[in-house]
Amino acid sequence: MPTRAVVFDLDDTLIVEVSFAMTSFREALAMLPGVDPDASEVVALDAVRSVWTTGADHALAVGLGFASWEGLWSDFAGNHPSLAGLEAWAPTYRTEAWRAVGTVFGIDDQGLLDCAADTFEEAQRRGHPVIGGMDEVLAGVAERHPIGLITNGPSDIQRLKLEQSGLTGAFAREVISGELGIGKPDPVVFLGLLDGLGADPAVSVMVGDSWERDVLGGLGAGMSAVWIADGRPVPEHRPRVAVVDSVLGLPAALDQLA
Ligand SMILES: [Mg+2]
Repeated sequence: MPTRAVVFDLDDTLIVEVSFAMTSFREALAMLPGVDPDASEVVALDAVRSVWTTGADHALAVGLGFASWEGLWSDFAGNHPSLAGLEAWAPTYRTEAWRAVGTVFGIDDQGLLDCAADTFEEAQRRGHPVIGGMDEVLAGVAERHPIGLITNGPSDIQRLKLEQSGLTGAFAREVISGELGIGKPDPVVFLGLLDGLGADPAVSVMVGDSWERDVLGGLGAGMSAVWIADGRPVPEHRPRVAVVDSVLGLPAALDQLA
């Protein structure tokens, strides 16, 4: 019988990523006098992105699924050699990104901007919240299937998140896009991981919250997929795709796809 592997995404599938990043960002903005964090989050993030998108390696970062806010706290250690340029640019990026935020609010005090930068990094390093009950789901699935992880992001922060959420060593195989130099949805990433698990793509399942990177990526590699909708409408109905509200719905979805 062919081996059915179950492959997980990390961010916003097993742990809370985007909303936690925004909470940390508001904590940082609160360091700036006269700035209302709740009213300023969007415009401040736009300022950060305006610098991020000017990077010489921006296309590479997009391909690997690195977010502008991850560039504000990753040390970029342990990544593929193709990321050396991004690593070298990171300190400049951080300084310019926070200066761009300051410009929006008429703040040019470097000490204040450094304080905001440090606050963001410390908040992100404190530990991401996990999706409640995900560890029981993982343990249950692992009793019946080999499990793997494919996560897009820089090596240092993805490994820190795994450690802080008790997931180091939980997967038989794992791929971090920064380490490989290739990210989801490239089918090479999925097929390489499944090969390492001795699993057959035709019966294996990708589980994640990104329609493009997890669902379409998994389908592109010949897998089925489980989409974590988290209240969002389904972009399109596709065969071999099950939709759940959170990872807690995974066991039923696996039965549905079998
Ligand atoms: Mg995700």
